[in-house]
Amino acid sequence: MTGSDPLSYASGESEPPLLTHTIGTTLAATAAAHPDSDALIDAAVDRSWTYAEFRRDVLALAAGLRRHGVQTGDRVSLWSPNRFEWVLTQFAAAEIGAILVVLNPSYRRHELLYALKQSGTSLVLAAESFRDSDYAQMLADVRDQADDLREVILFESDTFADMLAAPSDDELAQIAEIAAGLRADDPINIQYTSGTTGSPKGVTLTHVNIGNNGYMVGSLLEYTEADRICLPVPFYHCFGMVMGNLAAIAFGCAMVIPGPAFDPRAALSAVEKYRCTSLYGVPTMFIAELALLDSGESFDLSTLRTGIMAGSPCPEQVMRRVIDDMNMSQVSICYGMTETSPVSTQTRMDDALDLRVATVGRVGPHLEIAIADPMTGEILPRGETGEFRTRGYSVMRGYWNDPEKTADAIDPDGWMRTGDLGVMADDGYVRITGRIKDMVIRGGENIYPREIEEFLYTHPDIVDAQVIGVPDEKYGEELMAWIRLRDGADTLDADTVREFAAGHISRHKIPKYVHVVDEFPMTVTGKVRKVEMREKSIEFLGLDG
Ligand code: AMP
Repeated sequence: MTGSDPLSYASGESEPPLLTHTIGTTLAATAAAHPDSDALIDAAVDRSWTYAEFRRDVLALAAGLRRHGVQTGDRVSLWSPNRFEWVLTQFAAAEIGAILVVLNPSYRRHELLYALKQSGTSLVLAAESFRDSDYAQMLADVRDQADDLREVILFESDTFADMLAAPSDDELAQIAEIAAGLRADDPINIQYTSGTTGSPKGVTLTHVNIGNNGYMVGSLLEYTEADRICLPVPFYHCFGMVMGNLAAIAFGCAMVIPGPAFDPRAALSAVEKYRCTSLYGVPTMFIAELALLDSGESFDLSTLRTGIMAGSPCPEQVMRRVIDDMNMSQVSICYGMTETSPVSTQTRMDDALDLRVATVGRVGPHLEIAIADPMTGEILPRGETGEFRTRGYSVMRGYWNDPEKTADAIDPDGWMRTGDLGVMADDGYVRITGRIKDMVIRGGENIYPREIEEFLYTHPDIVDAQVIGVPDEKYGEELMAWIRLRDGADTLDADTVREFAAGHISRHKIPKYVHVVDEFPMTVTGKVRKVEMREKSIEFLGLDG
């Protein structure tokens, strides 16, 4: 197919060439090319590593893992907020081909045990505790029920310190031999997707999957060893570990950890202190950073040039302010999902401003994307709304030990069904208009909440808006908007919002209910839990669910 084809299909450029080697090989090449460039900075403990030092410690930890019996293909779980040990473990496991199971730091016992058992984890590396999460205690509580689990090692323990001790020449030679025998299309990583229904699924990704995704994302941001990436996004998710860490090590950029969990002041202080050139975040993180600037605090953001906003719909107004008020003239929007390593589309730095703030960009290198009829899989004409699908190097190996769910997700031709709704314009740029399960059907009309959310953002007092469908006797569903107001704004009720919307959006798209909140129920990765919003709304509106 060609660019002039009227169907919603596009394929990416073939440059730069795909990497066909392992993550360890990429790190070795970068450490050789830029030994003295900063690799990692952890603001919380004020420590930094050059690439030479970073690779030295990665190899030491790889040897440490071997001493604790870890073999290629074994599952090693990692449970911790963002800190330097997380990053060292990520690359040490890759070096010897252990499959790293990255656990959400907000898990509790039930979710922890499920992931340990489902993945067949034999060794866990974990932080002792963080805020109200006592990882050590929770691990002790479930350990007997996880049959394959042999050992738990805490970052704070002497055992972990010993694992980082300088390895012998024999050990290093052994690791080099193991590394040389690894295959780039072997699994390297399992990430459990939160999944709104049913049990979590273990997305299984290879060196080729995630090594390349980080590389392609970084290449479109024109990363070099001069870049320093501030990473307030969680490492256990692709946003941190792939778009952040794997992009960084492909180009010799510094990975800057502003703190163990997101805090807007810590993020902006780290940008200033470590002279970061790039800043990542989900939209709510940027919203919180802008609010901090609005409150009068000031930070030197003059070193910023680029960054990524992704993870959930990126409001156009927020993008514009990030460009104007945070000095991120080359900020990019990425769209994707864990199952596709994650990025499928990205805005380019030389795109016209309108495309950069209002679309999720166009297809990434070496990938194919399509907008298809969700039922038949038929590719739709450009301009029509349908399910976004991706095919290519980025598509996961499958869900760990779950061929049935894998077959549901990836069609026989290799297309990953995302469950997201999108529209592709004539120029190949895509807008994400909602999720299949998000769609509201009111009186037979399909309504995509995203469109109404974007409209509500144009109200000067609304800083964030989320729209859901709630049950209605007459129409099947009615629209409800949950809104967050600017500090100091007078409260808004349904009538004032309706007045504001009247004449601007179709009558059936104007929310019947409006609910003002201080915050939305969110996942750590910035996804609003609409299911929870809906349940709560049904309860307090006294509707029949
Ligand atoms: P996850 O697997 O946690 O990365 O979640 C992937 C989902 O996040 C996608 O299927 C989308 O629903 C949503 N998402 C990610 N990036 C974007 C974006 N730029 N715009 C809209 N939705 C996004």
